[in-house]
Amino acid sequence: MQERVVLGMKILVLNCGSSSLKFQVIDAETEKRLAKGLCERIGIAGSRVIYTKTGEDKKKMEVSMPNHKEAILQMLKVLQDEKTGVISELSEIGAVGHRIVHGGEKFSKATLITSEVKATIRECSALAPLHNPANLIGVEACQALMPDIPMVAVFDTAFHQTMPEEAYLYGIPYSYYEKYRLRRYGFHGTSHDYVSERAAEILGKKREDCKIIVCHLGNGASVSAVKNGQCVDTSMGLTPLEGLVMGTRSGDIDPAVIEFIAHKEGRTIDEIMNILNKESGVLGLSDGFSPDFRDLERAYFEGRPEAVRAIRTFARRVAKYIGAYAAVMNGVDVLCFTAGVGENSPIIRSLICEYLGFLGVHLDEDKNGIYGQEEIISAENAPVTVMVVPTNEELAIARETARLVKG
Ligand code: ADP
Repeated sequence: MQERVVLGMKILVLNCGSSSLKFQVIDAETEKRLAKGLCERIGIAGSRVIYTKTGEDKKKMEVSMPNHKEAILQMLKVLQDEKTGVISELSEIGAVGHRIVHGGEKFSKATLITSEVKATIRECSALAPLHNPANLIGVEACQALMPDIPMVAVFDTAFHQTMPEEAYLYGIPYSYYEKYRLRRYGFHGTSHDYVSERAAEILGKKREDCKIIVCHLGNGASVSAVKNGQCVDTSMGLTPLEGLVMGTRSGDIDPAVIEFIAHKEGRTIDEIMNILNKESGVLGLSDGFSPDFRDLERAYFEGRPEAVRAIRTFARRVAKYIGAYAAVMNGVDVLCFTAGVGENSPIIRSLICEYLGFLGVHLDEDKNGIYGQEEIISAENAPVTVMVVPTNEELAIARETARLVKG
């Protein structure tokens, strides 16, 4: 097995959710994506596989997938298909990298999956009841179908494990931390790690010598402060609900809002958590208009008040976090924008940076006009270098996976 792994290795990257499975095959040598796909509606009527071989058209196939094992079988079938496949036999897969949402305090880096590792991931399910069990189902289904192929766990929380205690503790009785490890963990760690490293590389600097703020602005959104190569603070907390206003998540609110709604509307805690996770954010702020920033941007330019207030509230919250993280690091050298909105929305980048002149953030609005490519968008000689750095979580997972199996 080792010999096969070292020779031209293909890495299968999996992100397994409760009813969906995203996958990519990446060549570890060239770092090129060979194929990507999505199995959706697993266990629900109307399940289908959406698959794209790099350079070819997207294919959609209706297939019955009553469970995750069947979804993984379908994925392996399409990957080995004579016409559209990218592997001729399973043994070409050197390893499988699994995105695992929560590693608690147990994992500060990626690890080869053993039965002890699975047990620990299971223990961390108390912290991520929606995600970790689904991630584990993916691991176990893969192990059943590919028993000889090494599996690696790459955690969303791992990069943030370097935060000092004053960043991760909440101002609540310390006994909750001692009893339950109730604290800030942070998410999107693979993206914050990849983007901060790549930004330093583009600038010809060592990440260890920089103070970097990464704004990962997608449907889910978070900011992190990366000082001398280590994460020192991040905006998501015990769960991804904390921090920025997001597509449908509220981000920071006064916890008393929960009590207020419970009393006024006779709602249960579960119902209110659902409202805060699924009906809030820019969707809630725009009074149900849309959680999607493309729709909101269009309406913003038409001057529709629901979109204007949603986008302005979103931008202001991001700016507040950037100000806070500049304080935490006693300065900032590089400000990075990434993910769907961060990479593709000049107007939102501009609205955020408008607040930050006092820090030395000055955009070059011509350069800021770009979409989805690596670019420095700050004005020449501005004290803070502002950059767009497209994230690539799958590549980061593939790199970690290849590194671990090569030993
Ligand atoms: P996630 O991975 O959390 O689902 P993404 O990083 O894919 O999120 O980001 C999705 C968001 O990015 C959506 O709200 C989408 O509207 C937004 N987005 C994508 N392209 C653009 C664009 N050209 N302009 C503005 N927003 C965009």
